Amino acid sequence: MITRNFFLFLSQNAFIKNKATKWGPKFGAKSVIAGETIEEAMETARMLNEKGLSATVDHLGEFVYNKAEADDAADYCIRTLDAMASFGVDCNLSLKLTQLGLDIDRSICMQNMRAILDKAKKHNNFVRIDMEDSSHLEPTLSVLQELRKEYDNVGTAIQGYLYRAEQDVEALKGTNIRLIKGAYNEPPEVAYQDNDEVYKNYLAIIKQHMLNGSYAAVATHDHHIIAEIKAFAEEHGIEKDRFEFQMLYGFRNELQEEIASEGYKMRVYIPFGKDWYGYFMRRLAERPQNITFAVRGLLSK
Ligand SMILES: Cc1cc2nc3c(=O)[nH]c(=O)nc-3n(C[C@H](O)[C@H](O)[C@H](O)COP(=O)(O)OP(=O)(O)OC[C@H]3O[C@@H](n4cnc5c(N)ncnc54)[C@H](O)[C@@H]3O)c2cc1C
Repeated sequence: MITRNFFLFLSQNAFIKNKATKWGPKFGAKSVIAGETIEEAMETARMLNEKGLSATVDHLGEFVYNKAEADDAADYCIRTLDAMASFGVDCNLSLKLTQLGLDIDRSICMQNMRAILDKAKKHNNFVRIDMEDSSHLEPTLSVLQELRKEYDNVGTAIQGYLYRAEQDVEALKGTNIRLIKGAYNEPPEVAYQDNDEVYKNYLAIIKQHMLNGSYAAVATHDHHIIAEIKAFAEEHGIEKDRFEFQMLYGFRNELQEEIASEGYKMRVYIPFGKDWYGYFMRRLAERPQNITFAVRGLLSK
């Protein structure tokens, strides 16, 4: 039995990472990662658009250690936004503030975000700040709050496993928020540990945000949640243009298309870039059944 820890071990193994990265995203990684370049990400977004799906792209990056690396990451985001406009794809940008220098110096991160948001505004596009682990929650919300005074084309994500999620959603009334269960290993001091409790709180914050009249991006592969949110919207007369569903690229493809065919906006989160290895291993760790991807990739070589 292949376990979660096995993939977490692989995700951190430098030797295997180097080998795998040299080969490029093969062995199944291609089914959950668009490729290594902006062009490949744009081609993937276009292919999804043709199926009636919207997209958001995320340039996978590892830690940045200095201003030059953070500025490079910002420059890459800007080039990606330009590419979206020139390819004419229905696609926005997802990013992580730590890649833009949040841990180095908040002012570097602010400066990079302003440059990215100026470009996004020019192209009439939107930027989503992914939420990282709980040690970055306050700094992320504080950056967002400052940016929201100048820009309306930026939002973030709130994690339902956190006890404080309800208060954060309340404070972000009027903001486009992605609502998620949460992906990090958080301690019981800050987060529910029990799946049922996470489920309950997650559902509650989605409904709270929707009832507030704010735009909600419901990012989950959980068909129970999706069914409940569809029924909830219907019951409360919340129009389909007031919320969207989101899933990761390569997961539950049929369900994605089914949701889109029912007239809901279905956005697919497309990761791409040279640092695909850690992302791929973490997805396998989250759901070891996804090893099917890897096996399929091997067979199709
Ligand atoms: C678009 C997107 C953006 C995200 N952004 C962030 C972020 O910024 N920060 C963050 O912390 N986390 C983020 N996440 C991850 C998120 O927090 C969860 O960790 C992740 O989505 C797993 O939870 P889930 O609700 O999708 O379903 P799970 O809790 O993994 O699964 C619930 C149930 O759904 C069904 N199911 C799930 N996956 C499958 C599958 N592949 N095939 C068949 N059935 C399945 C099963 O019945 C399963 O029991 C994001 C997720 C998505 C989709």
